[in-house]
Amino acid sequence: MNQHDVIILGAGASGLWAALTAAKRGRTVLVVDHARKAGRKILIAGGGKCNFTNIDISPANYHCKNRHFCKSALARFSPRHMVEYLSLHEIPWEEREHSQLFCTRSAADITEALYNDCLEHNVRFLFSEQITSVQKKDDLFDVQLTDSTHQAPSVIVALGGSAWPQVGATDAGYKIARTFGHKIIPTFPALVPLMMPSNWKLKNLSGIALPVTISSNGKQFTENMLFTHKGISGPVVLQISAHWKKGDSIEIDLLPYASIEESIKEAGSKPLLKTIVNRHFPERLASALIRQELGEKQLAQLSKKDMQEIHASIHAFNVVPTGTEGMKKAEATGGGVDTADISSKTMESKLCKGLYFTGEVLDVLGDLGGFNLHWAWASGNAAGEVV
Ligand SMILES: Cc1cc2nc3c(=O)[nH]c(=O)nc-3n(C[C@H](O)[C@H](O)[C@H](O)COP(=O)(O)OP(=O)(O)OC[C@H]3O[C@@H](n4cnc5c(N)ncnc54)[C@H](O)[C@@H]3O)c2cc1C
Repeated sequence: MNQHDVIILGAGASGLWAALTAAKRGRTVLVVDHARKAGRKILIAGGGKCNFTNIDISPANYHCKNRHFCKSALARFSPRHMVEYLSLHEIPWEEREHSQLFCTRSAADITEALYNDCLEHNVRFLFSEQITSVQKKDDLFDVQLTDSTHQAPSVIVALGGSAWPQVGATDAGYKIARTFGHKIIPTFPALVPLMMPSNWKLKNLSGIALPVTISSNGKQFTENMLFTHKGISGPVVLQISAHWKKGDSIEIDLLPYASIEESIKEAGSKPLLKTIVNRHFPERLASALIRQELGEKQLAQLSKKDMQEIHASIHAFNVVPTGTEGMKKAEATGGGVDTADISSKTMESKLCKGLYFTGEVLDVLGDLGGFNLHWAWASGNAAGEVV
């Protein structure tokens, strides 16, 4: 009962895919998780609709110390594979902007399909289990759980990253990796809202959303931004957060699809500046952006210096965020198990034969847009094919 071909730690996205792949090859698989059910993060992904992949996937969408690491697994597992899987299970999906694929009904369609598929292939699940220790004795791993010990020649660590602990994320994967001599690239909250200084000009605007361009550290994204009580969020902010480090400034173009200078030129000389600015922004935001005295000026009265101030406020708003909202609000973890000691083809440890790492526990961070789940499936697939 307690001897298996493979023990998979974590019943999340990559653990489920690895389990199914290995079980389809006739392997006996045990999956262990401390949660009460499988795929809790999948269920909350994409606002409950799960942005499960992206048609335009490429290794360039991933951040990893070794920029070649993702290539092999991605080359062998494309978005088409996921689409075929969903079609097989008659799960409806749709393409949204930026080539993102979402379930149209619910993310639960995917977790249920994967879980039931695993059961049909005789995968055994142990939920609500604590992993006390993982040790290797001769050619077998001993996985000690609360009340039982299990053995297998292969163990896949698919325990995810530390982001969003509310659904059971822990740093257990990193701890296990360290016990086998693996280095951990320092982890950080990624795809996360940014917090702003208490005295920043655009405070008290929470609830306002608009498309903007944000740049930092040579990276630039154009998408929606949302003002929050603590700072800014929305897809564009989550994207830039992966490139932002504490102390860096960000530059926000609040009018990326128009030019305030052109609007002023076209409006003639008589209107007040505030009338023109109000045409582009909600009133609360317009008055926060432009000083009252400046807003009351007629366009003809605007000096070169005024125009520079208007440009800086609207097209090149510079601010140094005070930090991120941390792991509790992060959709992914940056850093993780150093891929220098992992085979990019099989996800096997180069330090310990039979030990594999898949998904977010690795130092692989995808952009926002279905790339992290795709990495979880693709790396789970790579390990599941060989264990
Ligand atoms: C709010 C939110 C929305 C997201 N939306 C998207 C999206 O739409 N598209 C996308 O591509 N990505 C999205 N992501 C990221 C994506 O969900 C993850 O990158 C992906 O789930 C990682 O897969 P994984 O298998 O590595 O880890 P996980 O799916 O996190 O699975 C890890 C498993 O390990 C278990 N575990 C952890 N610690 C222990 C322990 N100590 N003992 C036993 N079991 C343990 C957990 O319970 C979990 O089941 C989102 C993330 C969040 C937080």
